[in-house]
Amino acid sequence: MNQDGKSALFPTYSRYPIALVKGEGSRLWDDQGKEYIDFMSGLAVTNLGHVPQRVKQKLVSQLDQLWHVSNLFHIPNQEQLAQMLTDNSCADLAFFCNSGAEANEAAIKLARRYNRKVLGKERHEIITFQQSFHGRTMATLTATGQDKVKDGFAPLPEGFVYAPYNDADALESHITERTCAIMLEMVQGEGGVNPADEDFVEEVVRLCELHGLLLIVDEIQTGMGRTGRLFAYEHYGIEPDIITLAKGLGSGFPVGAMLGKAKLREAFTPGSHATTFGGTPIATAAGIATLETMLEEQIPERAHALGEYVVKQLGDRLRGNSLVKQIRGKGLMIGIECAEPIGELIVEAQREGLLVVPAGPNVIRLLPALTIPQEDLDRGLEILCSILARKSVSAV
Ligand SMILES: *Cc1c(COP(=O)(O)O)cnc(C)c1O
Repeated sequence: MNQDGKSALFPTYSRYPIALVKGEGSRLWDDQGKEYIDFMSGLAVTNLGHVPQRVKQKLVSQLDQLWHVSNLFHIPNQEQLAQMLTDNSCADLAFFCNSGAEANEAAIKLARRYNRKVLGKERHEIITFQQSFHGRTMATLTATGQDKVKDGFAPLPEGFVYAPYNDADALESHITERTCAIMLEMVQGEGGVNPADEDFVEEVVRLCELHGLLLIVDEIQTGMGRTGRLFAYEHYGIEPDIITLAKGLGSGFPVGAMLGKAKLREAFTPGSHATTFGGTPIATAAGIATLETMLEEQIPERAHALGEYVVKQLGDRLRGNSLVKQIRGKGLMIGIECAEPIGELIVEAQREGLLVVPAGPNVIRLLPALTIPQEDLDRGLEILCSILARKSVSAV
């Protein structure tokens, strides 16, 4: 506390009056001992639940060995995680960083440098989409297709163009001789849980091929099993040139990664890009244990099955509810679009022991752990559906 009785933190977040102090699986406890079912996963981070034992054990043993060395040396864990990620995706190379914004920042830099240094083209513009979210650094907030994240931060970096999402017809007119890449979320997260349409993605890929543009897929929220496949691009049968990851990659330990195709290797030569903490032995240990667990325990398949179950349950129980406009999503990334703002509903759910998160003013976003026990899932759905039913009745 400051002398004026206010928090010593910058007020960048409007925080709920809850202090969570313990977590296990899909349950959380606050400092008053109240228990919650977690349908947020720290915003698609703790995809394996809180304190997953296998990741914990790997971290604990790494903590005894070595925490940090400079990237001027070989880091075996980093090599291993790069191998695992490329073995399980269409990418061939990895660069490690610490957050989603940094992964996208690396992708933007790589796209520009590949065009200049490898293709010899003076192209630098990247097409992104309205309602997209790509991060809070200067370049990534500029890439983001929402004005609210840009307020007060001008001058912004140059070189981003915004096309309407899921509008196949509108895309081509945004391509010029300056365009070098298209950056896309397969399901927009912050923008309201909007899955990309098949025909829209087909058009994106067709135009990338036609104009020699790089396709950057931001899988920071959709990756690591969240949508029912390890990566959401797999639903569409496409092969992005660049994939960015963070949130779920370290089960809560900060790890970001940018994955890319082999042709991009010569664009990121020694000295062209770096970060002190990228891919430390500890960070990459968290990534290795997370990915091992996901693959061995078939977590993406589980997310797919549970996602179908949740959408069916919601559909059955909310049929005729005047508040609910649409239920949509992929795997365990599900949005319930409501006819009204949902701020109050979120607080009511918290009071009844369920944590959910909004995606924009009207969409309730469900992001439970992919490992959530059936019992916790059903309990959470029960709380949510009964609040929605109550609200629907009181709205009439
Ligand atoms: C969260 C998110 C980011 C930013 O990640 P940070 O780790 O907060 O920098 C970027 N893109 C998408 C799609 C995200 O959901």
